[in-house]
Amino acid sequence: MRLVEPQSAEKRLTVKLEVTDAVARIHTDEKRLKQILVNLLSNAVKFTPEGGQVGLRVTADDAQNNLRFTVWDTGIGIDKEDLERIYQPFVQIDSGLSRKYEGTGLGLSLVLQMSAFLGGSVQAESKLGQGSSFTVTLPIVWAGEHSIPARAASSQPSTPSMVPNSGAKLVLLAEDNPANQMTIGDYLRARGYRVELAENGTEAVSKARALKPDVILMDVQMPEMDGIEAMKAIRDGGMAQVPIVALTALAMQGDKERCLSAGANDYLSKPVSLKKLAKALESFVDP
Ligand code: MN
Repeated sequence: MRLVEPQSAEKRLTVKLEVTDAVARIHTDEKRLKQILVNLLSNAVKFTPEGGQVGLRVTADDAQNNLRFTVWDTGIGIDKEDLERIYQPFVQIDSGLSRKYEGTGLGLSLVLQMSAFLGGSVQAESKLGQGSSFTVTLPIVWAGEHSIPARAASSQPSTPSMVPNSGAKLVLLAEDNPANQMTIGDYLRARGYRVELAENGTEAVSKARALKPDVILMDVQMPEMDGIEAMKAIRDGGMAQVPIVALTALAMQGDKERCLSAGANDYLSKPVSLKKLAKALESFVDP
C-alpha cells in the first residue's frame, strides 16, 4: 500500500485497509504475493477517478484453509464482455482508455499467473461506472514450486540460479509506475540483465551519468522531468552512444518522431509485450 501511496495521494483517493482478526499467518512466496497486490492496487488507483476510494480487504475462509485478498475500487469499472478478456496478456480495454490510463497491460495476466503459481485463484467482479473488485484466494500453506508452468516461467521473478553475474549487462529502467517497475524489472533480471531503477527523468539523467548503463529503457511519461527531456539531457551530456529504447503510453502521431529526435534509438508504445520489449533491448545488447 505504501508503493501506491504517492499516486493515490495525488488523486485524493481514500485508501482503506481491513484485515480480519481471524487471519494469523500465511506461508507463501512473499515476493510474488507482493507483486500480485501491487499490480492490483496500482490498477485500482489508476482506474479510479479523483476523490474516489480504493481498498484492500484480507479475510480468511470459514475452514481457514485459504486467505482472500480483495482489492476494490470505486473506479470506472469494466463491462461484462471485457471482463472475460482482461486476463489476456497485453490487453487494455480500449485505446481511448489506454490514452488516459497508462499501463503495460501486463498486470492482470501476471496476477493470474502468480496466483496460479501460488496454488490460488482470482475472481473479478465489476460494474461499469461503479467499480471493480479482484479477489485472490491463496492457500494458507503453499506447497512449493514443484509445478511451475513452463509457459509462465519466463515472466517469473528471478530465482537464485538466474541471478546474473557481475559481467551481466546493465539496464537502466526509467519508469515511474511501481507495478511496471516490478514487472519489467523482474522480467529483465530473469533474462540475465542487471537492472537499475530510476523513478523519474531527473534520476534517469543522474544515474545514466553515474552508472554508465549498457542500455536505457525510458518511459516517456514521468513526473518531475519526462522521458523526452531526460533523453535530450543524456545525449547533450555527452552520452551519444548508449542505446535508448523509449516507452510511451500515447501511440499518437508524432510521438515516434519526438522520441527519435530527442535521442531514442527505438520506440515502443504501451501496452507492450515483455517479449517485444526484450527483443528491442537485445537488438542493441546481449544480456
Ligand atoms: Mn509513466
